[in-house]
Amino acid sequence: MTDYPAMHGPSRPDWNCLVCGEPWPCLVRKRQLKELCQCNVRALERYMSEYLRDAHQEIDGQSTAEITERFVGWCSKPLEVWLTQGSKPIDSEAPTSQETSR
Ligand SMILES: [Zn+2]
Repeated sequence: MTDYPAMHGPSRPDWNCLVCGEPWPCLVRKRQLKELCQCNVRALERYMSEYLRDAHQEIDGQSTAEITERFVGWCSKPLEVWLTQGSKPIDSEAPTSQETSR
């Protein structure tokens, strides 16, 4: 494990990344969370839901749907979606498109 130079956490109440300034969760943070949860979508969504509650109250100018998509919507999507920038490939783990809802 490497030490992260800084935590890619949200600055509030504007909800941009403290490090890159992108709308949080930023690409780096998403990657970290994906690795952390090992693509366990449910765990990820549960984790992000904690932030979602606060974000709904603090973010202006975005609809509920947009905020939900921004915070939780990405959890169930394969990580490659965000790999357009910063071209460091992550170990090719096949995204499980099948939902095991049980
Ligand atoms: Zn960041």
